[in-house]
Formats: sequence, structure tokens, C-alpha cells
Amino acid sequence: MDIRAHVSMVFHLDKCIGCHTCSIACKNIWTDRKGTEYMWWNNVETKPGTGYPTLWEDQDKYKGGWEKKNEELKLKLHSKLGALGNIFYNPYLPTIDDYYEPWTYDYENLFNAPEGDDQPTARAISMISGKPMDSIEAGPNWDDDLGGSPLYARNDVNLDELTDDEREQLNELERVVFFYLPRICNHCLNPGCVAACPAGAIYKRGEDGIVLLSQEKCRAWRMCISGCPYKKTYYNWASGKSEKCILCYPRLESGQPPACFHSCVGRIRYLGVLLYDADQIQKCASVPNEELVAAQRNMIQDPFDPEVIKAAKANGISDAMITSAQNSPVYKFVKKWQIALPLHPDFRTLPMLYYVPPMLPVLAKTDKDGKYDVAGLDNEGLPAMISSLEKARMPIKYMASMFSGGNVKVVEEVYRKLIAVRIFKRAQKVKDYKQADVDAALAQGNTNADEVEAIFRLTSLPTYEERFVVPPLGREVAVESWEVPLDRKREAGFGVRNKIAKRKF
Ligand code: SF4
Ligand code: SF4
Repeated sequence: MDIRAHVSMVFHLDKCIGCHTCSIACKNIWTDRKGTEYMWWNNVETKPGTGYPTLWEDQDKYKGGWEKKNEELKLKLHSKLGALGNIFYNPYLPTIDDYYEPWTYDYENLFNAPEGDDQPTARAISMISGKPMDSIEAGPNWDDDLGGSPLYARNDVNLDELTDDEREQLNELERVVFFYLPRICNHCLNPGCVAACPAGAIYKRGEDGIVLLSQEKCRAWRMCISGCPYKKTYYNWASGKSEKCILCYPRLESGQPPACFHSCVGRIRYLGVLLYDADQIQKCASVPNEELVAAQRNMIQDPFDPEVIKAAKANGISDAMITSAQNSPVYKFVKKWQIALPLHPDFRTLPMLYYVPPMLPVLAKTDKDGKYDVAGLDNEGLPAMISSLEKARMPIKYMASMFSGGNVKVVEEVYRKLIAVRIFKRAQKVKDYKQADVDAALAQGNTNADEVEAIFRLTSLPTYEERFVVPPLGREVAVESWEVPLDRKREAGFGVRNKIAKRKF
């Protein structure tokens, strides 16, 4: 057992209101410089939709992440030989059209236009060419609230497994269904970006797992952009270097959560430490798709287990870090309650940002008259709004494609627990459920009253201190526990080799 600590995250999707405050907080701090105009280290997408950059989930197009080939885990992007062949030409990069042409407006004209019959307007000006733009054809949140969804949402790759009927059901006008998906770098445990970089410029910090990109070592090969299946590294055309989310490490080091977490209006974001077994990284990233979520949960260790604590201390993890892991809201959502799932575990990068999938789109689908379609259910005693998963408006197969490598059972288990929380609390407050319904829901959700109250508390009423348990990072005494990235290129479980150690003064 090789216990390490990782600053990890949970986003609770039921709470996201799609306000984009997180994106703006990040933009104002980190990407308001020349060359970063099109970059959104934090972006918020509407699902179903094609996202930003367009179709980022389509790895046939972009070749991001890992695949299993002949029992070995390989980067999808290229082999060692292929890397040499492609070094001067990487064919799998998104183009600016896959992102969007960033623009501003000619605000001056609003003040300086000569007097006339019409209101003056502020024309869009390209931030690339500086010239006026006749029309704006794409943006970082182009399918926001499903604007233009007939054109865009239909191309979402997670819809591939759905029947024609199920697809149409999603796009029916007036009964259209969607949810928001905020995304940042997942600070993965098996990061494709690190393994793909020929210059060894990207590395994971030993003491907290934050993935950083050295501006000194970057040589602009841009393999990280292709290697990251989430498209969360970006190329700065002005500096000639790639850039990415740094999880606001200067804020973390001073005890504050990242700016997007701090500013989140819906309070959907949670941050805390997970202890994990680094010996399991390669094995965990190599299991069949349906087993990926279970393997990742197994890799995360119980911070109260005396054996784990002993192994953590032997690895130089501080008492304060262990206490932080014990208080971590992320541990509760991911491991204890098992209701937060990694986004696209099938990319095999072992993302350390987890999502509680949204309830709202899985509530009962409606019939042609807009009535909830609950006919034929055996649980007819339940109010129609919380009905069976089989009749969910957003098919469970779609959620499974995003959050469980296609394993429908894993997603159903999460939803049964979330539904149990709703029914239990509704019975308490609104009193329109019979006790038998409540008991049935708890049994189906494999949960109990105490757990439901705890989930409800951390979901609905958490304090700032409960949402963000920022560990004392002690950067000044940390010694890198990850090997020089250059020595371990294209390897899975990249670089976790050295023992964690503290600098002695
Ligand atoms: S999401 Fe993972 S692979 Fe992509 S940049 Fe972040 S750490 Fe690297
Ligand atoms: S600030 Fe929070 S609620 Fe608003 S879009 Fe971002 S994640 Fe969602």
C-alpha cells in the first residue's frame, strides 16, 4: 500500500444554475492576457450539447486519453514511434473553429456615434484580427440553455447508444430537457497531458496532486492538448506556451478555495483531500469499462482506517493532512455515500473531480399533453414527479455514457439513493408520502435515515467550512514525490515513484 494525498473535488450538478460566475471569476484572475482570449480554464456547458471545444468527448476525432491495447495501457494519441513522426505536425488538435473566434465590442461607438435616427450599436470586433465581424457563429457556451439545440445537441456523442425514440424525446419542443456541466481540469491521477508532453513540462505536485505546466520547459509541441481527452490545456499564441487550470494553487497555499469554487453562486462545489493507494493506479486504469468506477472507488482509502493512517504516516503525510482527509466532503460524496462519479472514466485518466449527477432531468417523462407519464408503474403510490428510472426523461443510458463508462447499474444505484433522499425529506416536510413509500425508497436506495439526513445536510445547508476543507499544504517543506516527467513519458500511472518526503532545514 503506497498511500498518497490528493486535493480532490465534487461538483453537485443539481445545484448548478448555469450562471457562469465561476467562468468569469477564473477569466478575470488567470486568462485576461494577450493570447488567452479564447481560453476558459473553467467553462460551463449545457447537456445534451457538443461542448467546448466542439465535440471534445469524441476521441475518434481527437485521440485523447488512454486505451487498452494487447493488455497494455497506451495513449490513444500515438506510440513512441508515432510521437517522433508527429512531432512537427500533430493532426489531432482542435482548430480555432472548434473553439470559437473570440470577440469584443466596439463600445466607443455607443458614446461617439454621430446623432442620427437610429440607436448606435456596438459591433463585434474579432480579438484575433481586430476587424469587425459580420456575424458571430460560435462561442464557449454556444448551446447554452439549448439555444440552437436542434443543430448542436443532436451531435452529442453520449446520445450514440440511444434509440431514435429516446433521442427525439430529448428534443421535443417545450418539453426539452437539459442540465449544466461545469468543467475544469480534473487534475487526473493518470493524466494524458503529462504522459503526452515530449518536453516533460507538465507534472503533478507530490503533496497535493495538482497538475501544473512549466512555462519554462514548454516547447509548444501541443501534444498535451491532444493527449488530454477533456481538452483542458490550451495553447497561448502570444507567449508560444501551453497553459491550463492550476487549481488556484496560490490561493490553496494560503488556505483559500480556488476562485471558481469561492464564487460559485449555486454552491455546487466541494473541495477536500482524498487518500489513495498509488500502487493501484495502473491496474485501476486498465480494468474493463464497466468496472472503472468500482476500481476508482477501491483505490480511494478510508482515512479512519489505522492501517491506512500508518501507511500514510510512513509516506511522510502530515497529521494535519490526514485530519483534513477525515473531514473531507469529497470523501463522503465519492466513497462513503458513493453518489459522486468521475466524468468519462472511460478515458482512463482517473479524473479527481467527481460529479453528483443531476436528478431533475431523470424525473418522469411527460406525455403529449404535458402530463407525467407514470402509467403502469408498480409504485403508483408515489407522487408522479418522482417516478421510475425506466421512464426517466433523460435516459439513464445517456448518464451512464458520461459518468460510468456505460455501466447503467452504477448510475441507477446513485439515482436510487438520491431519490430516497428526496422522498424521505419530502415526507418530512410536505407529508404527502406514506411511511411504506419512504421505507421502500430507503431500501431501494440501499440507505437509511441517518445517511439520508447527512447527505441532505451537506447538499442543501453546508457551511463554507463544510464545503471547503483546504489542507495545510506545507509547500515550503514538500519535496517532489513524482519523478522527472521526462523519464517516464507515455507511461500510465505516470511518475509516482519516489517516496513522499519533507525538506529538512
Ligand atoms: S483533465 Fe487530466 S489530462 Fe486533462 S489537463 Fe487536466 S490533468 Fe491533464
Ligand atoms: S458559478 Fe456555480 S452555479 Fe454558476 S455556473 Fe458556475 S458552477 Fe454553476
